[in-house]
Amino acid sequence: MLSLTKTIEGDVPRNWTSHTPIVSLRDVRKFYGAVEVLKGISLDVRKGEVICIIGPSGSGKSTLVRCINGLNSIQSGSITVEGIEVNSPKLDVVALRRKVGIVFQQYNLFPHKTALENVMLAPLLVLNEPKQQVEERARALIAKVKLEGKENAYPGELSGGQQQRVAIARSLAMCPDVMLFDEVTAALDPETVKEVLVTIKQLAAEGMTCILVTHEMGFAREIADHVYFTDGGVIVEHGPPSELFNNAKDPRTRRFLSQVL
Ligand code: ADP
Ligand code: MG
Repeated sequence: MLSLTKTIEGDVPRNWTSHTPIVSLRDVRKFYGAVEVLKGISLDVRKGEVICIIGPSGSGKSTLVRCINGLNSIQSGSITVEGIEVNSPKLDVVALRRKVGIVFQQYNLFPHKTALENVMLAPLLVLNEPKQQVEERARALIAKVKLEGKENAYPGELSGGQQQRVAIARSLAMCPDVMLFDEVTAALDPETVKEVLVTIKQLAAEGMTCILVTHEMGFAREIADHVYFTDGGVIVEHGPPSELFNNAKDPRTRRFLSQVL
């Protein structure tokens, strides 16, 4: 069975310990024009941890995950991923992309490429690996997301849940150390949501570090080591799921949970 998680030895600073956060945000502020949408976000994620970010629409969750892999810039504060300063003007984008995978609500597969070709594309373009090695890994990943036999299917021939699992395999093909999931089941039919959640759960169980934005509260409760509730660009409160879901302190958290649970 293909292991999806790399050991980080040899790839990280020498003073690295398992307690060192793999992702670290400090007082992150982000504006769209004059509008501040992230108002001083700080959080740490350690290797193998699963964190869930929950909160109302418009609270800045997508912006936050996009900032972590450099798709959005920030105006102040710092974001580091395994020692890489994401907002440094000297950022090596390829190095960052090798460490952080991202999956969105919209799977955005290339419609004229097969499932296998979609999974192989980025590593072939970016990693400079032999094609045979990339293909072997892609096939193993397609099997891993339980799509064996669909290698040559085009996205249009797959269900939404199947396409999303191809999208997850595509991200994993870059051998990331951290996976970001932004409401990846929000666009799916209810009956295919579960198969995607099972895939994520399996990854998490194997030790993949995951940052998940989700509206699936049952899933967050089950899978998260730590849950962050965001509203209006701030982290209102955070804690282990048992605490946050059963004993939320802030009225905003309680109100939100009463609407979604
Ligand atoms: P969430 O994912 O929690 O729904 P978003 O991060 O998508 O929140 O959005 C946070 C806020 O930023 C919202 O008010 C949204 O309208 C605004 N916003 C998001 N993207 C842009 C953009 N590209 N330009 C301007 N405003 C944006
Ligand atoms: Mg969003």
